[in-house]
Parts: sequence; C-alpha cells; structure tokens
Amino acid sequence: MKCISTRGEAPSVDLAEALQAGLAPDGGLYVPETLPPIDPAGLDRTARLPATAEAVLAPFFAGGPLGAELSAVCRASLDLPLPVVALHEAGPSDRAADGNPDSAAEAWILELFHGPTAAFKDFAARFLAECMGRLAEREADDAGARTILVATSGDTGAAVAAAFHGRPRFRVRILYPEGRVSPLQAHQLGAFGGNVTAYRVAGSFDDCQRMVKAALNDQDLRTRARVSTANSICIGRLLPQVAYYAQAALQLTGSGRDELQVVVPTGNLGNALACVLARELGFPIGDIWLATNANRTLPDYFASGDYVGRDGLATLANAMDVGDPSNFERLAWLYRDRDLRDARIHAVSVPDEAIRDRIRREHASRGLVICPHTACAMEVLAQRRRSGDRRAFLVAATAHPAKFAEVVEPLIGRAVEPPPALADLLSRPSRAEPLEPDPDALRRELLADASTE
Ligand SMILES: *Cc1c(COP(=O)(O)O)cnc(C)c1O
Repeated sequence: MKCISTRGEAPSVDLAEALQAGLAPDGGLYVPETLPPIDPAGLDRTARLPATAEAVLAPFFAGGPLGAELSAVCRASLDLPLPVVALHEAGPSDRAADGNPDSAAEAWILELFHGPTAAFKDFAARFLAECMGRLAEREADDAGARTILVATSGDTGAAVAAAFHGRPRFRVRILYPEGRVSPLQAHQLGAFGGNVTAYRVAGSFDDCQRMVKAALNDQDLRTRARVSTANSICIGRLLPQVAYYAQAALQLTGSGRDELQVVVPTGNLGNALACVLARELGFPIGDIWLATNANRTLPDYFASGDYVGRDGLATLANAMDVGDPSNFERLAWLYRDRDLRDARIHAVSVPDEAIRDRIRREHASRGLVICPHTACAMEVLAQRRRSGDRRAFLVAATAHPAKFAEVVEPLIGRAVEPPPALADLLSRPSRAEPLEPDPDALRRELLADASTE
C-alpha cells in the first residue's frame, strides 16, 4: 500500500520506503493512504500474535517489497509472550477507599513488557528492525551503513538498540535527556556497545526529538550519513502495535461482551494511536482513554479544542514526559473530516502524587506491582469505576516495574526482581557520550561516523 504525508505535500511512497524514511520530505508524518476494513469475525480468536499481526498488516504490505516476507517478519519479531491477565476483584481496602462496595467489574491487563528490554516498545522496534534488515540485504554491498537515529524518553532507545544490535549494515545513535531517565534505563541505554552509541543530551526529551527531526529534515546529512529513525514518528513502529490491540479485542470480546474500553499510558501518542487504528480497522474497541502524567497537552486539548504543544515536564512516569506528542499530527489527520472531540477518545492527566498512591494501593489491595506509567492507566480505571462505569476494560501495562525500581520499591516496601533479559543487560558495563542540545552538534557526530567507514 502507498503511504502519504499528513501535510499532503510529499509524493506518495510504498510503505517499505516510508518506514525507511521515517519522516516525509515535507516534514509531515507518513500515514497509510487508506485504512482497509477488516472483518474481525473472519479471524481466529485463538491465534497467537504473529498470525494475528500478519492478518491485520497484510493489506498494508500487499504489493510492496516486503509483501511476501510479512509472515516471516511477524514470526521473527512478534513472537513474544503477551499475557492478558484478569484483574482480581478489588480487595476490601480498595473497596473501602473507593467508597463503593460494588466497584469490581471486568477488567484485564495487557502485559506488553515481556520482551528483551521489558517495555512495550520491544514489539514494534523488533518488527521495524526485521523489516529494515530484510530491505538492507537487497542493497549493493557498497551502499554504506544506515544510521538509525532515535530520541528516547527512556524506553525507545533500549528497545531499538536491542532490535538492531549486531545487525550488519546498521548503526544506532540514541539521544536521551541526561538525568531525566531512570538510573536503570540510563544503564541499559549505554550497555549495548558495538554498533550502538548512546548520547546523554544536556536538555529535555523534546530537545532530543527536535534534534532528530532536524537531522531527518537535513537532506544533505540524510544522504551522506544515510539517516533514518526508529522513533514512533516512523510508520513502521506504529503499525505492528495495532496487532496486540486487535489480538486482545478478539480474545476478550464475543459471547455477550461486544466491545472493550481501553486505557493506554500515553506520551508521544504512538501506542494509543495504534489502539485508535485498531478500532478504525473494525476491531471491537469502544472508548479509549489516554492516561498521561502531569504533561497536560492532550487533556487540555480534549477539554478546550486547542492544541498547544509545550516543553515536557519531568515526572515519575518519565517515558511519557512529552509536551508536544508527535503522533498528534497523525491523530488530527485521521479525524480531519470529523470532530476529534466526538471520537470516543478521552484524556486524563495523572499527577505524580496520584501515581505514587496508585502504585501503593494496587499492591496493598490486590498484590499487583505496576510501573509508574501503568499506574497512570490504573488510576484512570479506578476513576472510571468510582464514577460508576462498569463496562469491560483493558489496561495496557507498558513496562516491567523493575525498570523503575527506585520509584516502585519504596512505595511497596519490597524488592522487585528484574526479568532475566534485563538483569543480563544490567550486569554489563555502560557508557554514554555527552552531547549539547544543538542540532549542529549532532550533525558533526553523524558526519564523523559516516567518514570512518
Ligand atoms: C514510551 C512509553 C510510554 C508512552 O508511549 P507513547 O507511544 O509514546 O505514547 C508509556 N509507557 C512506557 C513504559 C513507555 O516506555
């Protein structure tokens, strides 16, 4: 399928080209030209994720260079554990606290954090790397390495690094805001080595994102250093995420339950947008809640109708410290002929105090240990239940709590064991290079890389 730019001033390109380019030449974001409706009734409700992904993504890849390989791409990248865990009925302490003895209703957690870097971004980063790796194999031997440039508020960089680490023909350059990612995330980002370099930028995530966009808009640099991105501005990151919402909706609806409400911890709006796309494609998803941290850009937009991007504030849920979410442009494009405020999309801001409180309460009432991002979504669910909403909910759990041990452990009064893949990364040495929050500084680094080939 062809992709077009949200800004409408770039030629349409095949999806394979769009996923290698990252950003469209007019500065817009690539979006699929059409959304091919899918009949969920024709899909296997018991299939595993790679098969569901293949069914959902086939129309997008059809006719392009990866069409025949989609099945292999899905099997190689998306076969990660994807538990859908039923939430136990609220225990006595939560009931008392909520003042609502009847607050238990059906809800599930979609655990998206069982990949190699323990956050949901592993799914899409692995899918993108698999696609790009297969495309690179067809290039001439002297084509030179591609540089995958990625701005990260904590988790993207590691997922992308893990997915491209050791792949021939690729370099990964990660930019993260120094001091604004968790100590464990920082260690993880610098622990890859080899074809991966981590830069600690003296600035905010939005600075990092601006630097990446500047590099991608610099045609001379793009050609000389063969720069592309694996940020969620890349269409190849967005599409595979549609698959796990499709999968959960298939698995949990039917037999009397006709739709699922979904709460998604939201920063740059990539994950939640995938949920919106799953609904647009025809999967049985109803209302969607964007759970943000204290960064209120999206809640303010849904309240006022005015989108005002701003600098990100530092919060406990640092992977969502985004003040100007890139994917808003895609959401606005999707609803260009409809009022976005009638779209059954809602946004709620959860301040740090409520994040702490939610982590404590979920642990005390049902023994559930959650990361600060997931806590934003669980707080939104608790608010829905308090207001009497008893419909079936799915909450996306975006990271393993061990990644945020310094926040979570003091609140629950015990240690959280890291999953094995994470423990392994943490046992390695780690190193990051300092970088000024200046596009020219990044340009110099990228040109220096390209000249050492
Ligand atoms: C990246 C991230 C988010 C935010 O996802 P977006 O797609 O940027 O909205 C939420 N939680 C965790 C743990 C993350 O790493």
